[in-house]
Amino acid sequence: MILGDRCTRDCRFCNVIQAPPAKPDPSEPQRVAAAVAELGLNHAVITSVTRDDLADGGARQFAEVTQKIRDLAPDCRIELLIPDLQGDSSALRSLLEAAPDLWAITWKPCRDFMPPPVREPIINVPWRCCGLLRSWRRSCRPKPD
Ligand code: SF4
Repeated sequence: MILGDRCTRDCRFCNVIQAPPAKPDPSEPQRVAAAVAELGLNHAVITSVTRDDLADGGARQFAEVTQKIRDLAPDCRIELLIPDLQGDSSALRSLLEAAPDLWAITWKPCRDFMPPPVREPIINVPWRCCGLLRSWRRSCRPKPD
């Protein structure tokens, strides 16, 4: 799990600390990649807390971790399990330019469908994920000849 141990959201079912997070650690991509290489992993899953405090939601850090793993462990398959990036399709695009082998968005309960004690309190996340995926799909459409 990258980008620290403090989350900017507060899902009631989760035990991650809800507190102001620290700045992204610039040495983290190198450290994660070195660990992946040392362990000889053939599949690494990289995930994070949600970083609504960062303009790109942490997309750049995901991309840099991916690139470093490619450098140090080129045979390792890389899977990114990313937060919803608040529906920011340009952040998603910048992250995917690092070409992970697999990626998925972590899915939080929709506030409309969950009782108050477990509602994710900030935004209706699935709605934003849907918007994110729609805009990503549009951007992938091949241009007509
Ligand atoms: S967004 Fe993820 S890490 Fe943060 S509190 Fe919710 S489930 Fe936990």
